Amino acid sequence: MSYEIATRCLYGDKKENAFDRTGAISYPIYQTATYEHPAVGQSTGYDYSRLQNPTRQHVEDIVASLEGGVDALAFSSGMAAITALMELFRPGDHIITDSDLYGGAIRLFDNVSEKNGIKFSHIQFHLDKVEDFINEDTKAIYIETPTNPMMNVIDIRALAEVAKSHGLLLIVDNTFLTPYFQKPLELGADIVIHSGTKFLGGHNDTLAGFIVTSSEEISEKLRFLIKTVGSGLAPFDSWLIVRGIKTLPLRMEKAQQNAQEIVAFLQKQEKVVNIYYPGIEGTESYEICRKQATGFGSMVTFEVESKELAHHILKATKLIPFAESLGGTETLITYPTTQTHADVPEEVRIKNGVTDRVLRLSAGIEDSRDLIEDLKQAIESFEGSL
Ligand SMILES: *Cc1c(COP(=O)(O)O)cnc(C)c1O
Repeated sequence: MSYEIATRCLYGDKKENAFDRTGAISYPIYQTATYEHPAVGQSTGYDYSRLQNPTRQHVEDIVASLEGGVDALAFSSGMAAITALMELFRPGDHIITDSDLYGGAIRLFDNVSEKNGIKFSHIQFHLDKVEDFINEDTKAIYIETPTNPMMNVIDIRALAEVAKSHGLLLIVDNTFLTPYFQKPLELGADIVIHSGTKFLGGHNDTLAGFIVTSSEEISEKLRFLIKTVGSGLAPFDSWLIVRGIKTLPLRMEKAQQNAQEIVAFLQKQEKVVNIYYPGIEGTESYEICRKQATGFGSMVTFEVESKELAHHILKATKLIPFAESLGGTETLITYPTTQTHADVPEEVRIKNGVTDRVLRLSAGIEDSRDLIEDLKQAIESFEGSL
């Protein structure tokens, strides 16, 4: 019998595997660095926690189950996962990415991976034709969908076909929608990335990252890397992510509903000139998202009429913290220009639409009336002139 996703958030694929031999309902935190060997040449299956630890393995099994992968690897942060991923490539390899991407990924690609000889083309997948950028050194396509922060939706199935026909890996960062709403491996992607810090952990309290793959061969290479580079997730942090995932479906639904109510409120505000949310009907993003996902998520980016108003809102919200990060129980608002995307070159930022009037909001699970009241007083208390 295979379980539905909400059940898999608790037990993974099989309840029998979800418990250790004590039957503890909450999986134990195996706070150990090393393990006794029964005899020479024998192992309990655990030798040293850099290689594997039961609590880490438990969270990996659950994430692999949710994404439908053959394997998932848990890292100490999303960036640690992406850094390990880059070790699959060699000097001279070329990767095509979106220019609208988590700022930390762009910082890694442009400053660290480039230095190691990997080449990147940052394109606009919703406008450009990816085939025009593929050359003989191209090895992979790396995207987020919806993109961060502009919320453009990319057709994963169509892109997977292009990738396959050119022998490229398709890598999808699925942080924003999570497997609760979108399963890129089922749509043809080879590798899924997560910042587990965000919705999977879900409480703004733990850093974590995941790589999930549908390929045994890639899994084997990644297993070698995680034990070699040593950035696996610690036992306690693994446990916190296990606990977070238990409520993923409830949080995703509530946060999405709050996001939709906030969008409806923003649509009535004269001083809000653009709203970027894939759940708004009549947009291309809406049509693609409806085909490949079961929800639109809880990330809302919006543009107000002046930089002064944007700055004012960040200062004037009383309930909603001005803070980076997303996907947690608390609604957060941030300013991509100076925060999450400060390392993206200014001309790229502007071309993508990330102006100094753009704010990004991650809806949490509060009562939406309090969130809307807070945004309302923040917008209405602005007295500056244009
Ligand atoms: C936050 C984030 C990352 C980086 O993850 P960390 O856990 O902060 O290292 C990568 N991708 C996306 C889409 C993110 O939002």
